[in-house]
Amino acid sequence: MDQALRDRWLAHARRRMSGAGLRTGAARARVVAFMAEEGQCLVGAQEIVDGLRERGGGGAQASVYRVLDELHGLGLVRRSVDDQGAARYEIHDDDHHHHHFVDDATGAVTAFEDAALEDALAEAAERLGVELSGHEIVLRGRKVPRGAPAGD
Ligand SMILES: [Zn+2]
Repeated sequence: MDQALRDRWLAHARRRMSGAGLRTGAARARVVAFMAEEGQCLVGAQEIVDGLRERGGGGAQASVYRVLDELHGLGLVRRSVDDQGAARYEIHDDDHHHHHFVDDATGAVTAFEDAALEDALAEAAERLGVELSGHEIVLRGRKVPRGAPAGD
């Protein structure tokens, strides 16, 4: 867990929520604290419910989902829905950005950062004459052993 990211996002989330007139009720505060630590990369909605329960004082699934919806509506978390329709969430922070690799075989998600990719996207945006508000890159495939040829 990146503690600087946790603290920065928590402060941002509190400002954003109070700016939106949302009171920091206990259920909301617990979900926000959980996401700051465990939601730095995609975590399933059900895992969030279970994780909160493990931490004690979980709260009803419906209220956790409602808070996640609020956070998503405020742009504080990103939502990713897989082929089965299951939602996963991760916190959104302007200064911390990563992409995802999804393993075709297992569905496992791996986060990665790539400065050259960011540069390429910025150049593409310039070429297209657009001002980007965001982008989402998901690579899919299978892991190959290092040094092995990627073909079959
Ligand atoms: Zn991620």
